[in-house]
Amino acid sequence: MEKIVILTGAGISAESGLGTFRDEGGLWAAHRIEDVATPEGFARDPKLVQNFYNMRRAQAREAEPNAAHYALAKLEREFTGEVTVVTQNVDGLHERAGSQNVMHMHGFLEGALCAGCGHRWPAPLNMKITDRCPKCKEVATRPDIVWFGEMPYDMEEIWDHLRSCDYFVSVGTSGNVYPAAAFVQDAARHGAITIELNLEPSAVVSDFAESHCGKASDIVPEWVEKMLSVRR
Ligand SMILES: [Zn+2]
Repeated sequence: MEKIVILTGAGISAESGLGTFRDEGGLWAAHRIEDVATPEGFARDPKLVQNFYNMRRAQAREAEPNAAHYALAKLEREFTGEVTVVTQNVDGLHERAGSQNVMHMHGFLEGALCAGCGHRWPAPLNMKITDRCPKCKEVATRPDIVWFGEMPYDMEEIWDHLRSCDYFVSVGTSGNVYPAAAFVQDAARHGAITIELNLEPSAVVSDFAESHCGKASDIVPEWVEKMLSVRR
């Protein structure tokens, strides 16, 4: 059975209106990364950080999946082999488009995490600094987001997927962020065909066997149709 692993990044959600800290304007413009996306920032001002993620959560719930998200969900449904999406995005647009096999390596806006005992539960729309962990009852609720300086989630499982896949496809990622930047080399070393789909060539495009430039909502559906036309 053939296996496809797809890494997705900010570029796939940008067309749904969700910006990142690299963009001008938007939610991030009023904040410094070290204030809202590090454990130290959260320790300094938990209320500011909770409010920031409350706004991002509300914005993500209002956003709609685009043609690229829907195409990847269709691939998972119709491909005869296995399709796994590993996303750097913290929104739920893959799931809302119908993808079921999604790993959130940088966490998930819809998740709450207890900093005390590690318990996870669905985030309320508005998280408050007085929220108690439903398990240990400690007041230690934080967004289930991997901040700068923290370890991405599920890395062992992700490396296993990369080493056993037939295709590794990167969609809308800059190639600047470790460990994701190293995924292509590892997958290629273990025999995968590697493909980059991006608005412009990424920092690691030379590591890919094949690359296509364009809007995710154009080039992802095109690539999915090509894969399905031969392997449906
Ligand atoms: Zn707890």
